[in-house]
Amino acid sequence: MEIVEVFSSIQGEGRYVGCRQVFVRLAGCNLACDYCDTPASRQAAMEGRVEATPGGRDFFAVANPLAADALAGYVNSLLRAPHHSVSLTGGEPLCQAEELAELAPKLAGRLYLETNGTMPDELAVVLPYIDIVSMDIKLPSTSGREWWGEHERFLRLAAGRDVFVKVVLTAATGDDEFRRALTLVAAVDRRIPVVLQPVSPVNNVAGIAPEAALRLMAAALEMVDDVRVIPQTHKMMGQL
Ligand code: SF4
Repeated sequence: MEIVEVFSSIQGEGRYVGCRQVFVRLAGCNLACDYCDTPASRQAAMEGRVEATPGGRDFFAVANPLAADALAGYVNSLLRAPHHSVSLTGGEPLCQAEELAELAPKLAGRLYLETNGTMPDELAVVLPYIDIVSMDIKLPSTSGREWWGEHERFLRLAAGRDVFVKVVLTAATGDDEFRRALTLVAAVDRRIPVVLQPVSPVNNVAGIAPEAALRLMAAALEMVDDVRVIPQTHKMMGQL
């Protein structure tokens, strides 16, 4: 598998914010979002890095691609300390869906998939092994095109798991695209939790005004049952 890094840290986003996880950051992505904060993950490099002790930041280099057995060994070694789950992240981890399906049963922890929600066919390959799905809905204002059809197929598949939806809010977030995203969630199941994430300062993407976040949250609460506004807390704490 093409990896960027493996390490133990604190989940900084979404419904499981604050949980200790082993992160498996995989290389490759099918999108190029304006606010991407992991641009180095979008393409595979010759080497990745693996933490030797959980949270020790004592990384050693490994050559890409990495066999699933070897990667599982590194992850399971970090899991010798208690963790909530293993975050499969990226990049977009479903770009390596076949390889993930080989890796997943070798991992000793619960599996938490962080995904942009645009690859439903690939999700179907991996989903039998996944416990929790953190699914983004990508709005056209920041992802460059519409993904409504893919997102709806994806969420209908993921609805059989513990799933929540994340929508990043920027100054460019439009009322119409936002309402369409919430309509999509409500059409699948209005009980699915929705996390609204004000964008962190990156790539000169302008942040959402506080009053606009309140207005969008109020609109979302009219459409689905569980809406929370949570920024990226790992950046506040200086965590990876
Ligand atoms: S989906 Fe994630 S990794 Fe890919 S470009 Fe968008 S923010 Fe970056």
